[in-house]
Amino acid sequence: MNNDTKMPIVLIGNSFKYEIEATLKLFFNTARFMFCTDRSEIVGERYVVAEVHENGSFAVEVCLGDEPVITEGEAAPDKLEHEICRALAHTLTELTGIRPPWGIMTGIRPVKKVTELIERGLGKEQIRAELTERFELLPDKFELAYATAVNQLPILEKIDLSAASLYVSIPFCPTRCSYCSFVSHSMDSARKLMPEYIAALCRELEIMGDIVRETGTKIDTIYFGGGTPTSISADELQAVMEAVERSFDLGSIREYSVEAGRPDTITEEKLRVIKELGASRISVNPQTLNDDVLRVIGRQHSGEDAIRAFELARRLGFDNINTDLIAGLPTESAESFRNTLDRICELSPESITVHTLTLKRSAELFEKSSANIKNPAAEMVDYSVEKLIGSGYLPYYMYRQKNTVDNLENVGYAKKGFESWYNIFIMDETQTILGAGCAASTKLVYPDGKISRIHNYKFPYEYISRFDELMTKKTEVTECLKKIKSTPQK
Ligand code: SF4
Repeated sequence: MNNDTKMPIVLIGNSFKYEIEATLKLFFNTARFMFCTDRSEIVGERYVVAEVHENGSFAVEVCLGDEPVITEGEAAPDKLEHEICRALAHTLTELTGIRPPWGIMTGIRPVKKVTELIERGLGKEQIRAELTERFELLPDKFELAYATAVNQLPILEKIDLSAASLYVSIPFCPTRCSYCSFVSHSMDSARKLMPEYIAALCRELEIMGDIVRETGTKIDTIYFGGGTPTSISADELQAVMEAVERSFDLGSIREYSVEAGRPDTITEEKLRVIKELGASRISVNPQTLNDDVLRVIGRQHSGEDAIRAFELARRLGFDNINTDLIAGLPTESAESFRNTLDRICELSPESITVHTLTLKRSAELFEKSSANIKNPAAEMVDYSVEKLIGSGYLPYYMYRQKNTVDNLENVGYAKKGFESWYNIFIMDETQTILGAGCAASTKLVYPDGKISRIHNYKFPYEYISRFDELMTKKTEVTECLKKIKSTPQK
């Protein structure tokens, strides 16, 4: 479907817009829809009508250019929305041949759902029945979600809900990758502001440190992310990490990660700073080792550069390295992805994260895009499960995003004992995460489970110029941490 054409979706006798749109996106992941309530508003030859009759029966009509296909059914009022989406998905599978791997599970995290069911005392077969029958997950996706939930449970059981984790944002990159949909600013545009940015970030870390001390909160994990944290200079990185060191008690943390990220920004000097200032886990993220693909996505490093950066980190004593790969990059073939993964496995990092390409509206690729047409991402993802599990890695965290090629998932694999606690905490949403820096957000998890978010400004100039205003919002952080502290933990 052309990205500019809005497909009319007519809802009659119901207002199930959100779920119906989510189901449609499983088949047309970059399409746009126009919702209306009358058939007279249909334009073009492609449309969907979802109609609920007064007696509770329903009809779903789908037309993709040829003869419309109508599916009828009945459901109890509380099951109606789900059954309409199921009928819509079946019809679309019939018409397009697409079978979404995660079925009609939308807006629900599969691993969280499995964990919930395990905690309710259900056995594997009962959980399989619930997920494969109700949501129609494919059997191998159920196995993946189940294994991931089982592997992360021992860590979740040790989660300290009275503690908090810290995220430090360095939202800069040497250049922008063509698939990027993060908030990331190129170093060229940000260089002039850098001294002021670093000073503001250090100041925010000190303010956060004061709040953490005042409320007696323990910091559990620290994560430097971006952007690419190693795009700043070694001195700048040192200044930020020293601010962390003097503001927080590093003696009690369980994990300190720095996402070194792009190999073209990794130098011995920066790695030494990272190591000396207490971080024990880093990420080296080539995404692919295929030089042609790296060029297409706008990276300025080669596959060999990535291997050299990895080996340098090893020589300097890093014994917990993660490597990020992306399945489905433009022009990448299944074979070249396999070569990359095999080569990465030979390097034997402690963890490997396999993402699937996501086409978000802000990404350059989305605009040009037909990058997701005939993309062998599913083959790559299947290979990664087989290869990594066969090489001793265990899936331990997983998330899905909208607009991912073929509705595939992102999975973190690790050797036993090298699972990233921070990655699990961020998905589980039960521990407070304090965010510092431009584009960071703070996620406050109140004792009653309510979540409140404070978003820092996205642009460095705004973060710097409105810093004092931003800091006034931190009173809520103090209040929340005090509440957490005064609530007995279960
Ligand atoms: S390295 Fe990551 S954050 Fe930076 S431009 Fe590329 S995709 Fe975006």
